Amino acid sequence: MQNKSLLKLVEKHGSPLYLYNTEIIASQYKKLTDAFKPVKNLKINYAVKALSNINILKLFRKLGAGIDTVSIQEVLLGLKAGFDPKNIIFTPNGVSLEEIEKAAKLGVQINIDNLYILEQFGQKHPETPVCIRVNPHIMAGGNSKISVGHIGSKFGISIYQIDHIKNIEKATGMRINGIHMHTGSDILDIDAFLRATDILLDVVSKFENIEFVDFGSGFKVPYKEGDISTDIESLGVKLSKKFNEFIKTYGKPLILMFEPGKFLVSESGKFLTKVNVIKQTPSTVFAAVDSGFNHFIRPMFYNSHHHITNISNPKAKNKFYSVVGYICETDTFGSNRQISEIREDDILCFDNAGAYCFSMTSNYNSRFRPAEVMVYNGKDFLIRKRETIEDIFRGQDEVEF
Ligand SMILES: *Cc1c(COP(=O)(O)O)cnc(C)c1O
Repeated sequence: MQNKSLLKLVEKHGSPLYLYNTEIIASQYKKLTDAFKPVKNLKINYAVKALSNINILKLFRKLGAGIDTVSIQEVLLGLKAGFDPKNIIFTPNGVSLEEIEKAAKLGVQINIDNLYILEQFGQKHPETPVCIRVNPHIMAGGNSKISVGHIGSKFGISIYQIDHIKNIEKATGMRINGIHMHTGSDILDIDAFLRATDILLDVVSKFENIEFVDFGSGFKVPYKEGDISTDIESLGVKLSKKFNEFIKTYGKPLILMFEPGKFLVSESGKFLTKVNVIKQTPSTVFAAVDSGFNHFIRPMFYNSHHHITNISNPKAKNKFYSVVGYICETDTFGSNRQISEIREDDILCFDNAGAYCFSMTSNYNSRFRPAEVMVYNGKDFLIRKRETIEDIFRGQDEVEF
């Protein structure tokens, strides 16, 4: 979108503001489904936790996607967005048996990643088919917080414990209908992915009633110029070939699944903030915006780089700035960035603000969460109101002293 239209939207809806362009979401979805065209049965389950506004979920339903959920609340959100429970997969980690039972009762596909839970669930509900989250022990992922497939990881059932799974399946009479892995976000090289594919398909071959194979996600998108992104087209060609060959030996049709979050929504999002003050110190020029890690935590939490532009003064000379927030802790969005000259009240635009941005906001410092706007068919829709002081008071019961 043009700077002018972005500025207009800030004028209309206020700052700070999250903005999502649905055209980009739709084209990313198409890119992914096109890449895997050779596979007859493909299903994309959007990972709700990346961006969970109900309108985004409804958009994915319209596009033909299912959803991947990690909490019972996300399951309920998906049902409210109109998803058939059959198109919802529940992939929790470290949750109670009770929560899994609740999700199963709602009719969603259960994905279990713990032998003890598998055994208890199978004993109580042998009639409910479950998918198994396997840990292929492949080291991948952009940083330690999002690398979840290695040997020391808390996720998945180890590929060295397949016999245990088979014993439980037999003893309880339950049915394992899917095999899943999710090795982490930001996978750079597709060879790691293909190695994990071999491992996963080998696991599938050990079970008789598999209906789908879920390869999770980990597709990387570019955050700055020169960034490597996952080569989806090449992965599509190679993985589809492997998968189609495997189906022939397995003897039954299988569904190929993915559950991306970041790939589908990251680039659709922009975060727009207003500059409160400029501050010059002996070493640095700071631009402080009307936001902080309460609204946009990725730079501080994951060290992630988000491109920042001054859309109010784009043609001015570049200067060096550290862009910071208003939180009473260090909350640097970007240090030593070359940005066209920033003045008070200018609007700064942060790129790649679709995934893991709004969904990780908080009320820290008792600040309001930002508004969310979705642009669909050239029209802007306010899809979440900016919070008010009532939201800060809500739920707090006062004790009379
Ligand atoms: C977070 C998560 C995803 C999505 O990961 P992205 O890197 O956003 O694509 C998929 N599957 C599971 C199980 C997850 O926890």
